[in-house]
Amino acid sequence: MFDVHVHAAPDVLGRIGFDAEICASYAAAGFSGFVLKAHHESTVGRASLLARSSGLDVVGGLALNRGAGGVNPAAVLSTLASGGRVIWFPTADAHTQETAQLPRLNDLDPRLDRATLAVPPVLIPDKRASSDLSLVLDLIAEHDAVLCTGHLSGPECRWLFEQAQQRGITRFLLTHPSYTVPGIPVADIAELADRGAFVEITAYQLWHQPGMTAARLAEVARAAGDKLILASDAGQPESPQPPAALQELVSVLAREGLDPGRLAAAADDIPRKLVLS
Ligand SMILES: [Zn+2]
Repeated sequence: MFDVHVHAAPDVLGRIGFDAEICASYAAAGFSGFVLKAHHESTVGRASLLARSSGLDVVGGLALNRGAGGVNPAAVLSTLASGGRVIWFPTADAHTQETAQLPRLNDLDPRLDRATLAVPPVLIPDKRASSDLSLVLDLIAEHDAVLCTGHLSGPECRWLFEQAQQRGITRFLLTHPSYTVPGIPVADIAELADRGAFVEITAYQLWHQPGMTAARLAEVARAAGDKLILASDAGQPESPQPPAALQELVSVLAREGLDPGRLAAAADDIPRKLVLS
């Protein structure tokens, strides 16, 4: 199996294990690799160290939150030029996160202002922001990297998808679109998947999303079709160990009647191909 979304310590929030412990748990469970995600810093160096020491395909990237300078082409270039494969648009500092009162970096210290990040059509950027955004998208295209939509809203995800298509970006992943943020309706998820967007469902949603049920996740999985990607998004101290979390998600969806072969591919070959060259 291959987990395209997991969190580990060190982080600004408590995590279930440090990088090496999480990596060892995937190796013990027979996974071929995983993508290490952090909201506030690049994971490229950490992933490279883990890959070299474990032999697994451990992939790093960068989330475009305020710690990275927001939608910042300099940070994106340094991430991709040093081997990072995944760029997440704003997550913890997205405007949706503030509205939904989900955790943000400035919760740690009230001296930090509560500014948020957005892209069109929510934000009409000024000239500088617009050229930064355009360069970020060009860099993702030129490096054939993975664009993940983060926690931006449905209309922003759709705008990004159209921008990605214009640039020939094929590795486009809607980050847990059925989660509270962004909360994209199933019909829209189906339409974007039909047009080529990959659709992530996470084990995290099973345990931590108010109102989410296995049946609703199964509906999203059906809407995603062959663009479905299953990930753990685990690493929280109160979630199962990440490999077990992803295995549990597969089992839950199988009990909802989804084809086991399709689910297996969605937690293995499909995410591997999405992130690895
Ligand atoms: Zn996550």
